Amino acid sequence: MDSDLCVGHGQCYLVVPDLIEDDERGLAHVRGDGQVPVDHLEALQRAEKSCPEGALVLTEDAPD
Ligand code: SF4
Repeated sequence: MDSDLCVGHGQCYLVVPDLIEDDERGLAHVRGDGQVPVDHLEALQRAEKSCPEGALVLTEDAPD
């Protein structure tokens, strides 16, 4: 999530409200610690595509 690009359209948290919510400023915030289980990948890809600002970019953390 690039907070500098997010302007709070809310498209992403309408698509996946169980994974992304708005903060007190109306900007997107990934729920919890920001890590999303891989079984939610398809939903996150839909959210990523929904963002008109390109503020959502999926990355893959390497396992420890
Ligand atoms: S759709 Fe993009 S710009 Fe809109 S709230 Fe989500 S991340 Fe921010």
